Amino acid sequence: MADSAGTQSGQNGPFDVVILGGGSGGYACALRAAQLGMKVALVEKGELGGTCLHRGCIPTKALLHAAEVADSSRESEQFGVRTSFDGIDMPAVNAYKDGVVGRLYKGLQGLVKSRKITFVEGMGRLVSPTAVEVDGRRYEGKHVVLATGSYAKSLPGLDIDGSQVITSDQALKLDRVPASVVVLGGGVIGCEFASVWKSFGAEVTIVEALPHLVPLEDEQSSKMLERAFRKRKIAFELGARFSGVEKTEGGVKVSLENGKTIEAELLLVAVGRGPTSQELGYEQVGVEMERGFVKVDEHCQTNVPTISAVGDLIPTLQLAHVGFGEGIMVAERLGGLEPAPIDYDGVPRVTYSEPEVASVGITESRAKEKYGDDGIETLTYDLAGNGKSQILKTAGFVKLVRQKDGPVVGIHMVGSRVGELVAEAQLIYGWEAYPDDVASLVHAHPTQTEAVGEAHLALAGKPLHAHG
Ligand SMILES: Cc1cc2nc3c(=O)[nH]c(=O)nc-3n(C[C@H](O)[C@H](O)[C@H](O)COP(=O)(O)OP(=O)(O)OC[C@H]3O[C@@H](n4cnc5c(N)ncnc54)[C@H](O)[C@@H]3O)c2cc1C
Repeated sequence: MADSAGTQSGQNGPFDVVILGGGSGGYACALRAAQLGMKVALVEKGELGGTCLHRGCIPTKALLHAAEVADSSRESEQFGVRTSFDGIDMPAVNAYKDGVVGRLYKGLQGLVKSRKITFVEGMGRLVSPTAVEVDGRRYEGKHVVLATGSYAKSLPGLDIDGSQVITSDQALKLDRVPASVVVLGGGVIGCEFASVWKSFGAEVTIVEALPHLVPLEDEQSSKMLERAFRKRKIAFELGARFSGVEKTEGGVKVSLENGKTIEAELLLVAVGRGPTSQELGYEQVGVEMERGFVKVDEHCQTNVPTISAVGDLIPTLQLAHVGFGEGIMVAERLGGLEPAPIDYDGVPRVTYSEPEVASVGITESRAKEKYGDDGIETLTYDLAGNGKSQILKTAGFVKLVRQKDGPVVGIHMVGSRVGELVAEAQLIYGWEAYPDDVASLVHAHPTQTEAVGEAHLALAGKPLHAHG
């Protein structure tokens, strides 16, 4: 066991806060708590930065960027530029990806050190409402924050062997482009890997048990993504349940309950993530749990007053920025401030496939449940009318859902690069803006953000580049 990256004085406390898990939720909490003058211990058994930095957001987005470069070189003639696409050098792609991760990792270690956080390397276990034990050494704190994150789930009877049947952890380490892949699960992670592999030249089939890809998104977004994937020749089976997998000489033979079988070199299991909460002492100390998740109130406090929990370990959206937000909120509460609870509907969601899917606020169907079928209005602005989107040759839309005679309550977008538009959408939602409020803001031309402006112009009854 070693204390590192922190000050070498007074490591054993007592601390104001002991944080178990150094991923997005845990380290954000540690950084903010230290900034507020608290004495912080951060316990991490693997690498500071957790899933997001090492096995999640950052490496996948590096692969997606490499995929975009591959598409650009393959499709460059559409723009009058002659290039030749000679293929993917996977070790070089991995070196680029690992370089990005490495630089951010170094930066984060420096940040934790500069805030004088005591970084404890080792496997921690909750041993009392105010203490965590690591390799026989006890770290006492006035408060404990649980932030042990999540792991890639599988299905009953589906064994991950790490070579033919893999999760995103192994997918990020592949040293080759597979000839063909079955992706089990059409959620965010499944769609992102499907998009990368297709761009890299693999044959991809997604199997999704629900009726649509990215099933948590507005149905119109899901359908648009499906149309785009169909055009890209990414195959998918919707409403199809997995029944079994057999290893073959060349890879795997996946069977579905509908009787179909699909052969491929690899099966990626992307059926969701479960909380890392087993055998960590949580139940023994009396922390209330539900399906393995730690139960918390709107300020992320558990039923044990000295214990809070954040990130993928609690049943909120499993996103890095949600972990950051929860970690910061807990630190501020422990620091005597009065942070507002997080409005989870107001958290932006982005699937970084090609095309991207981005949203904030509620879907049309949820708005109907909330305000009644006649209590809402929607408007879909087609990116065909947006100059920059035409320049990029992308198809998609910006869809607005508003409460009738009320504010915009949902913004849903599909198209290349629309993830970047979600920042403005989030402000519109958070500000409870009326279409007229946004319509009066002049947007820069020609940008894709104009599509957000024009959607509001149209919903306010004064469409510009749209049929009224
Ligand atoms: C492939 C993939 C892509 C993703 N892409 C995105 C994205 O683009 N955008 C986005 O917002 N989110 C994305 N996510 C989700 C994001 O990574 C998670 O929501 C985020 O990492 C959760 O943070 P966390 O701190 O709760 O958990 P984690 O990041 O999992 O961190 C938990 C940490 O706790 C440590 N730990 C666990 N148990 C112990 C113990 N007993 N003792 C000591 N340490 C322990 C672990 O080693 C780990 O470092 C992605 C996830 C995956 C898998």
